[in-house]
Amino acid sequence: MRDIYSRVMSTLRASKYIMISVEKAIEIVLQQAPELAIVSKNIEECNGLVIAEDITGMDPFPAFPASIMDGYAVRGPLEPGVYPVMKRIHAGDDNVLEELKEGMVSYITTGARVPPGANAVVKIEDTESVEGVNNSNESSVRIQVRVDEGTNVRAIGCDIQTNELILKKKQIIRSAEIGLLATVGVTKVKCYSKPIIGILSTGNELVDIDMTPNPGTSQIRDSNRISLSTAFRADGYHCIDLGIVRDVKADLQSKLLHAASQCDVVVTSGGVSMGDADFVKPLLESLGTVHFGRLNMKPGKPTTFASIIQNGKKTLFFGLPGNPVSCLVTKALMIDPALRRMQGLDSAACMHIQVPVKISSNLKLDHERPEYHRAIVSLDQSGAGLVAVSTGNQASSRLMSLCSSNALLCLPQQQGILPAGSVVQALLTGPIATPSPLTCYHKAAASLDYPADNKPVKVVAKIPMRVGILTISDRASQGVYQDESGPEIAKILAAMSSSDWQIDATVATTKIVPDDVAMIQSTLVEWADSNQLDVILTNGGTGFGIRDLTPEAVKGVLHREAPALAQALINEGLKHTPLAVLSRPVAGTRNSTLICTLPGSVKAIRENMVALRPLLPRIVELLINQECGVLANTPGYSR
Ligand code: AMP
Ligand code: MG
Repeated sequence: MRDIYSRVMSTLRASKYIMISVEKAIEIVLQQAPELAIVSKNIEECNGLVIAEDITGMDPFPAFPASIMDGYAVRGPLEPGVYPVMKRIHAGDDNVLEELKEGMVSYITTGARVPPGANAVVKIEDTESVEGVNNSNESSVRIQVRVDEGTNVRAIGCDIQTNELILKKKQIIRSAEIGLLATVGVTKVKCYSKPIIGILSTGNELVDIDMTPNPGTSQIRDSNRISLSTAFRADGYHCIDLGIVRDVKADLQSKLLHAASQCDVVVTSGGVSMGDADFVKPLLESLGTVHFGRLNMKPGKPTTFASIIQNGKKTLFFGLPGNPVSCLVTKALMIDPALRRMQGLDSAACMHIQVPVKISSNLKLDHERPEYHRAIVSLDQSGAGLVAVSTGNQASSRLMSLCSSNALLCLPQQQGILPAGSVVQALLTGPIATPSPLTCYHKAAASLDYPADNKPVKVVAKIPMRVGILTISDRASQGVYQDESGPEIAKILAAMSSSDWQIDATVATTKIVPDDVAMIQSTLVEWADSNQLDVILTNGGTGFGIRDLTPEAVKGVLHREAPALAQALINEGLKHTPLAVLSRPVAGTRNSTLICTLPGSVKAIRENMVALRPLLPRIVELLINQECGVLANTPGYSR
């Protein structure tokens, strides 16, 4: 019996580490993370550090009654009238202790000491020069308003009182805090040290980023080391580059031991899975204590956490999986909280900021593990809530799923699909993305890149449209030059589709034909009668050249012309050049397809597309609707 049991056990290929939840793992990490030494720092070096002492301001600030405005210091309450000017007092002046005489006022600037006897300042806008001109020797001034005692004066200590607690232990020091310390004259403070982080890549397949992987091998560039160190450095940590180590046990062991002596935290990537060259876990076990080695999460299951104590100093080891996405996601989830803890922060302050977000599309759930889905969180169209857009394919090797991402969506371990519109919790890994100009508080500034009279309309729903682009040019069709106009139209449509315009355009077909009426017409008829396109945009051949025949060709195949649409294109062109009248655009419909001609020049195409931008969705919508009604009975309509 025993024999069978041990044979089964020895052939079982399960990990020996129990799978624990991410929540439990972070709890363990926070418990193990040692608080680092407290050191005295000059305030210039304190940005981003956690302060380790309470700071109280000894003296009041301001230390004297200070004027809030440029104006006149007065004895309030004071009635409107003309008053003699006793003195002119500026911020920083000496000899300001002379008392303001009864019945007089003194000119005073912002930040200057309000003289004894004065108790209020009337702002300059509420006064009038009685000597005709503004001069610096005026003998009197008209005060136009009643001035109450205390007006426009910062009393002694109104910003900081004597012995007021100005910074609390465990606060993070940033620019305002440093400014505050400077204000009260504290130039050295006690802070928690920042951890020193060593970063090591493991794997025989890795080459340095400036090397070319050997063709015919499985070599790849080591991207983890630089992405990890970039992320840590962005948060102000000092990183030690420990390089790449091969999957050779002895080499890895000496690297790890050396790293432990140099660093507070060592981060390795790769070599923690179940392969026969994955040595990180067993080595950490032999050198110290492995606290966990398997997590119930996707991506990042094999993430390993250990600690080694050497000469009384504890070093934390994070063995991250090699896949670049797993590596950065587990760094965010496990290491970020640990680093904050080491700098003295309370456990709650170690966690990522969490916000509820609405998902913009259906998300497939994983029934085996809870998933941390990469997404971009931004303000929604209403400006009142947050929306999360998935970064697409979530493969743990696909770094593009992390590019621009600012959030990890916490998706439950569950079978099935989470429908669009569901609310999930998002852990923010970066600032909330810039909202659309429509929801910006400073809308006008944010909309600068939209032409003034053509601001995007509020998107209700995007209108899908299939577009055919026909380039009409003798030379482009002969290959004398490369067609730039057709691709430009496609590019503009793609940009409109990915912004706030109501357009969701798919370029279904493109073609280049010579300036030949028969060829132009046969293409247009074939496309418009195919039932496959909502819009056909031609370019080229609308001028006065002998071979510019596009308008004539197009007119011949239209069922109905739309001259005002053509005029709208000219109007837009006229904003840029009077020569726009020389273009001969034609627009109209054949069946339920809009056909519209654009000029050949890229610049003119851009201008014309601006005119079409707000119109296309409406036209396509109308054509789709009438397709089911009136148009079906129109002579010549074939659908
Ligand atoms: P491992 O965790 O060592 O099994 O590696 C998992 C995957 O990540 C493999 O495809 C490795 O080639 C890849 N990988 C490991 N380390 C790195 C690295 N430093 N940079 C980029 N990819 C890596
Ligand atoms: Mg490996």
